[in-house]
Order: sequence, then structure tokens, then C-alpha cells
Amino acid sequence: MIQDTPKKSEHLLEIKDLKKYYPVRGGFFRKKIGDVKAVDSISLELKRGETFGLVGESGCGKSTAGRTITRLFKPTSGKILFEGKDITNYRGSRLRNIRKDIQMVFQDPYASLNPKMMVGSIVSEPLINFGKGSEKSLKDEVLDLLTKVGLPEDAYYKYPHEFSGGQRQRIGIARALALKPKLIVADEPVSALDVSVQSQVLNLLKSLQKEFDLTLLFIAHDLSVVKHMSDRIGVMYLGNLVEVADADEIYQNPKHPYTQALISAIPQPDPRNKSERIILTGDVPSPQNPPTGCPFHPRCPEAMPECSEKRPHLKEVNKEHKVSCLLYE
Ligand code: SF4
Repeated sequence: MIQDTPKKSEHLLEIKDLKKYYPVRGGFFRKKIGDVKAVDSISLELKRGETFGLVGESGCGKSTAGRTITRLFKPTSGKILFEGKDITNYRGSRLRNIRKDIQMVFQDPYASLNPKMMVGSIVSEPLINFGKGSEKSLKDEVLDLLTKVGLPEDAYYKYPHEFSGGQRQRIGIARALALKPKLIVADEPVSALDVSVQSQVLNLLKSLQKEFDLTLLFIAHDLSVVKHMSDRIGVMYLGNLVEVADADEIYQNPKHPYTQALISAIPQPDPRNKSERIILTGDVPSPQNPPTGCPFHPRCPEAMPECSEKRPHLKEVNKEHKVSCLLYE
């Protein structure tokens, strides 16, 4: 059992059976008639200094999981332990204080920056909110951050619309770094960018991670993007984690039929390395009305009769390789 103790553990973050449901209301009195189970029980640990890639199709609940972990959303149930402290139900000043250590980089750099604020104000805002530094030292600190993310110093006096998509994401990263957080949750940070600038932003995140000693939760729908960034990868399907392993292990030895299908769909740069693509039939079921048993069974090419009745759980099949599938139970 995870203890709520202040001692420094190997894990910066521990998530235990986390759920985030949204009530569905209907009828004349708008009574609750069900739940959208956006996150339906995920458990994972993030080691200090690692990059954990969370991947899955759109609508699988990975962004909701990221926002719930950062406490932008209130969890329905489960536990979030940050540095051993149970922050699941933090509110008010305790929640505000923990935000110094946990920051987010958002998918859409266009929408996440206030168009009426100059870049200098955007990046210094978190520092001012937390009462860090004098006006002079604030400016020096912001200029230093802008340099670190590869922006010129004159960016300080410009507005977001004067920058390209990649540069705006750099501004978002500078803002996230301002308070020197311990954990950054990056929610699809490059998916709104041109392919040509995606790798620049990914390389920037990698080098800043080392420099700032960051732990990174990197959320993406594209497995090839996650591979370059991650030490470990978790695959989500319909609000559940279905496989967790080291990045190399998951690419070379995927166990879950869903992961195998996702990996088979990655284009191979070398045409001699042809592997057969696994085509999944059917649509992703609604999280309001998930299938009984294994949530993947209506689309699984390996489904067995018991898969529609028995729910699998994430179990270790090799060292640090966990799978949620009845084939391995
Ligand atoms: Fe497929 Fe059954 Fe495994 Fe689910 S439990 S992934 S349906 S084989």
C-alpha cells in the first residue's frame, strides 16, 4: 500500500486507481442518468527525471488523465501522490502551492497564450503570481528563459501573433519553466505544429529536461513521436492503461493486441522492413457505455469468448512490462 509520507521516494508521482467521470443528465429534471468514463481507473508511477509517454487514439482519455493528474480537473476517485504527499483533495492555498511544482504545456499554442499580453508579461506572470523577485530580476529571469527556449531577447516586447506556431510553443514552454517545476505534463505539444518544426520543439524539450532536471509526462496520439521522447510508455484505450513498458521493449515486443495494431501502423522508413499492418475493425466504443469484460474485445483480433465477460487487469509479464489482457493472466 502506498504511504502518504514526506520521505523522498524514487517516484516523483504515483497514481492509484484514478478515475474521472462526467455525469450525463437527462429528462425534465436533468437527473443524472449515467457517466462518461473519460478515465476509468489508471495506476502508474513516474520516476524522478524520466519521460513517460502516454499514448492512445483521440478520445481515449489521455488528455483528461493529464489534466486530472495536474489537478486542473478534480478526480472522481483514486489517489494522486506527488513526492509522497497525497494531493488528491488539495484545495485553496495548498493546491496553489503545488502548482509551482507541476506545470502544463498545452497542445494549442494559439489558444493557450493571451493575445493581449506581451511575451515578457506572459512568461513573468507565474513569477509575479508567486511573488518571485524584483522587477529588474524578473526581467533578467524572463530574458534568460527566452534565450533558453531559443527565442531572441526582443521577443520580450512582442505579442503572440507576431510569432510562428513553433515559436509560440517555445513561449508556452518558457512560461511552464518559469517557476522551475519538478513535473511538466506536455499534452500533445507538437501535434498542432508543422512536421518541419515538430522535431525542433521535441529536441528543445529533451535538452531542457536535462538542464532543469525535469520529470516529463508526454501525452501524444502518435507513437513515433512518443518513441523519440520517452524512457517508458503507457498505452491507453477507452480510459484504461492497457500496456506499460520501457520504450524499446514496447516497440520490439508489444504484448497487447491494441499496442500491436498501433505499432503495425507506424510507417517504416526502410521499405525492406515490411511488417504486416493490423487493421482494427469497428469504432472506439462510447466511454458512456463501455463494453462489458475487456473494453477492447469488440475490436480485438484475438478476442476469446471469455473476453466479453471477464475484465483483465494490468499485470506484470516481464520485468517492468505490464499488460492488461486475458491472454497473459
Ligand atoms: Fe483481446 Fe481478450 Fe486480450 Fe482483451 S482480453 S485484449 S479482447 S485477447
